Amino acid sequence: MPRSLISRLFFFIISITLFIGCSSSDKEKNNTAFMDGNGNKGGVFSGNSKRNPMLRNPEFSIPVDPNLARSLTYSRIRTQAPFVAMTFDDGPHPVHTPRLLDILKVRNIKATFFVVGTNTRRYPHIIRRMVAEGHEVGNHTVNHKYLSRISIEEARAEVLGCERAIVAACGIKPRILRPPGGHINNRVKVWLNREFGYSTIMWAVDPEDWKRPGSGVVAHRIVSETDAGEIILAHDIHGPTIAAMPRALDGLLSKGYRFVTVSQLISIERRQVVKAEEPSEFYGFKNS
Ligand SMILES: [Zn+2]
Repeated sequence: MPRSLISRLFFFIISITLFIGCSSSDKEKNNTAFMDGNGNKGGVFSGNSKRNPMLRNPEFSIPVDPNLARSLTYSRIRTQAPFVAMTFDDGPHPVHTPRLLDILKVRNIKATFFVVGTNTRRYPHIIRRMVAEGHEVGNHTVNHKYLSRISIEEARAEVLGCERAIVAACGIKPRILRPPGGHINNRVKVWLNREFGYSTIMWAVDPEDWKRPGSGVVAHRIVSETDAGEIILAHDIHGPTIAAMPRALDGLLSKGYRFVTVSQLISIERRQVVKAEEPSEFYGFKNS
């Protein structure tokens, strides 16, 4: 084995416990793997799905050290390993978010939700479900205010208000923030980091789902534009976005990508994970 390969083995280390199985009744009830948003079979990537009825994200154990020094901002990490992070903004939505959580659950995909404080106060049970199912919750301000366009006092109230709503809902303090509308500047990023310990999370892949181009377009953009280490942006308040997710997620899984939360992605970059039990899965990816 070449030396570089050996060292890479130790670099990207994952403790993979391959998924053993959920109960068969679960699968029958909840498996929407081959359906589009209307419950119909078909779609851009359905060929793959039909041949691989068990497209599931492997179970990863990637510890996230809360004391880990993080960079000011991330839109991707540098890695050759096939990890990506799916992120959803602006929820929780009382109908769309639970549907999305069902879609993620049958695929064992852990995502990151940048939630708005007002919605968090209204639907705290959905925040608790996110956490219980292994997802990460991040700050998206109380009222979806553009942080670089308001006073520091107003920005502080927006950030703290959302943080308190999340803590009230699930007891976990967020450590990442996505600026509403992507409106941010370096001064605000530094302030968020120094005052609250937040990293600002941007994105590398933007399917522009909020412009409602259609579910097929959203799915195709996500699958065709994503590379290893990238953070993908979407919004869980739009029905067509949810409808695009089975095709988008199955498309990425069938290309060999594996889903982790944003904080896990950051940990992978920091090489915090140190044991590989299933390296073949990894290296198969590079040649595929
Ligand atoms: Zn937003």
